Amino acid sequence: MLAAVMLNTAGCKGPRLLSHDEEIRLGQQAGDEFEAEYGRDRDQRRNTIANRIGTRIAAAAQPPAYAYDFRVLADDTVNAVAFPGGRIYLYRGLFEALSYDEDQLAWVAGHESAHVSRQHAVRRLERSLGYELLIQLVFGKDTGGQIAGLVAGLMLQDYGRDNELEADRIGLEYAKAAGYDPTAALAVLDKFAQIQGKEPSNLELLFMSHPGNTTRSDAVKNVLRERGWSGKYYRP
Ligand SMILES: [Zn+2]
Repeated sequence: MLAAVMLNTAGCKGPRLLSHDEEIRLGQQAGDEFEAEYGRDRDQRRNTIANRIGTRIAAAAQPPAYAYDFRVLADDTVNAVAFPGGRIYLYRGLFEALSYDEDQLAWVAGHESAHVSRQHAVRRLERSLGYELLIQLVFGKDTGGQIAGLVAGLMLQDYGRDNELEADRIGLEYAKAAGYDPTAALAVLDKFAQIQGKEPSNLELLFMSHPGNTTRSDAVKNVLRERGWSGKYYRP
């Protein structure tokens, strides 16, 4: 499709897009800086769960363009964050809040994987920071970690209503394909609503600024109903 490509290039005034390899390198560099700041949680139980869920979700994630790398962050807020290229952090506080329930954690992992596979993460960075700045980070020229800091700051914000609802929906698909109970998503959203009401400071921005919990639960139920998926937390 050379003609289409040429038309596209001629009509595109935006920043040059990162290549696949550059995207992966970017996520690794920014993730390393992020991890150095917060610390990585080496708790065996949490890491075993993260690896088990990560392996299964990664096998279910389509298209399989990314080598997902799930890690546990030593931080007690209830959060998860995805960097471009497949580096995903599940916070220690998330495990506690969801009582180590693997069906529930799997949906969150699926949601974050969707931000990677649908390239929400990398596109936001390209739009916000531009190619020239990002490529410095890719090539290790980010002295002082300033660019990595900007990247992490952006990754901790939500992606806007459409992308978040899309990630919710694809998270259900991944969780189901990986053999988890997709209805557990409803338990997660209930839990977030509870935390938001009682101790909002423990719930990171990522989840607070997602579309409202009622909107999300309704959207999740619609998918479950359409697909005829039932489980512990929902029967159509
Ligand atoms: Zn999200």
